[in-house]
Amino acid sequence: MHKALENKVAVVTGASRGIGRSIALELARRGARVVINYHRSAKAAAEVVAAIQSEGGEAVAVQADVGDGDQAQALIQNALDTFGQIDILVNNAGTTRDQLLMLMKEEDWDIVLRTNLKSVFNCCKAAARPMVRQRRGRIINITSVSGLAGQGGQTNYAASKAGMIGFTKSLAKELGPRNITVNCVAPGFVLTALTADLPEELKQQGIEATPLRRWGQPEEIAYAVAFLASDEAAFITGETLTVDGGLVMQG
Ligand code: NAP
Repeated sequence: MHKALENKVAVVTGASRGIGRSIALELARRGARVVINYHRSAKAAAEVVAAIQSEGGEAVAVQADVGDGDQAQALIQNALDTFGQIDILVNNAGTTRDQLLMLMKEEDWDIVLRTNLKSVFNCCKAAARPMVRQRRGRIINITSVSGLAGQGGQTNYAASKAGMIGFTKSLAKELGPRNITVNCVAPGFVLTALTADLPEELKQQGIEATPLRRWGQPEEIAYAVAFLASDEAAFITGETLTVDGGLVMQG
């Protein structure tokens, strides 16, 4: 049976767990060979590779701190050396250090901006040249509703995610003439390790503020990413697709 992403190679950053894991599994189910990037969770990343292989797919795990330019470059080079091409880059790696601005330490600002935004610069810079050479590519950046609407206690996180949206539009304009699309997916509340420790009250408020009255599943973000990676999405670029149960309605 023909699969939509057959003969495509995808790199997913932060694919050892949470949303990135689901994205990697979904792209592999649709036929892509996938590079599973992780930072610290080697065992979890190996389990994602094993899960993909058990379904007949191909994947490798590659350690890299994508906030570091050299390591991001090595990650993309590893994908090229292993699979010979790179068609899809999903910048998913992310972190939070929530705090009110007046109490926020400079290092909490720096780590969030480095992990969430500089990583996108690093990985896109490394992947752009091979994609331009191939005359095709899909870049999908995982932003957040916080980057659209703001969130108290998240000035660092919201700035990184809003920055990602401006970056995406600019790169979409640069790379459009080379048949490369660049888009964002903006999840709402999704239960992962990133959100598990939020105060119960905030979790409940999130459900009440969401018209669909529930949190999202990681797979529901993965379906949106898989669509933007597909041929069907060839005329969509510079866009932010919100997948949030109606929490933040744009336009
Ligand atoms: P998560 O469960 O905490 O997973 C984070 C992933 O990022 C892990 O695989 C982690 O790797 C990786 N990572 C962190 N720092 C890294 C670095 N420097 N280099 C490479 N990988 C790194 O988070 P999640 O909830 O799945 O979030 C995934 C993305 O969705 C993030 O960008 C997040 O901002 C965004 N998002 C999440 C939600 C939500 O409700 N969960 C909502 C909106 C947006 P290791 O395990 O190896 O450390």
